[in-house]
Amino acid sequence: METGHPGPRTRYRFGDWLFYSLMAAVPLLTAAVAIYPESILGLIGYLALLGAGGGWTLFFFCRHCPHYTRDEPRLKCIFFWGLPKFFQPRPGPPSLAEKLAAAAGLLVLFVFPLAWLVEDPGLLAVYLLSAGVLAAALRRWECPRCTFSDCPANRVAGGTGAPEQQG
Ligand code: SF4
Repeated sequence: METGHPGPRTRYRFGDWLFYSLMAAVPLLTAAVAIYPESILGLIGYLALLGAGGGWTLFFFCRHCPHYTRDEPRLKCIFFWGLPKFFQPRPGPPSLAEKLAAAAGLLVLFVFPLAWLVEDPGLLAVYLLSAGVLAAALRRWECPRCTFSDCPANRVAGGTGAPEQQG
């Protein structure tokens, strides 16, 4: 996987998806480990929520992303690999309502397992740290060269594809 900032990321590779999927699996698995012993229904609800959250994000946000609007039948990016495009692509910027809906969905996914995680400080620490590492990796390695210029997290300097200075 590229770790520098050679320019805009017009295409992702399978290794990129694998890297970020493994990284995202740590907080998700930690949450599941915290929920399962307490409530099998809670775990089923969490898994259902993850699936619904993925669809929610695809519908409200990803449909506007260049990796989704590209004229190909399947989505290939850092979080979805080979996924059929269930929703019609919508080139152009997402509306404020769509951005808020996508952000609210992610917030619900993040907050839901906290009710169980607070009962186990060790798992809570792993959950928060691994989620932080994932967010930092995206912020440091992807946002400065992301082609989705309408994403609120985009950090491409001047929209030119040139990376910002790293702190
Ligand atoms: S790169 Fe991000 S915004 Fe674009 S389709 Fe993938 S998950 Fe959605």
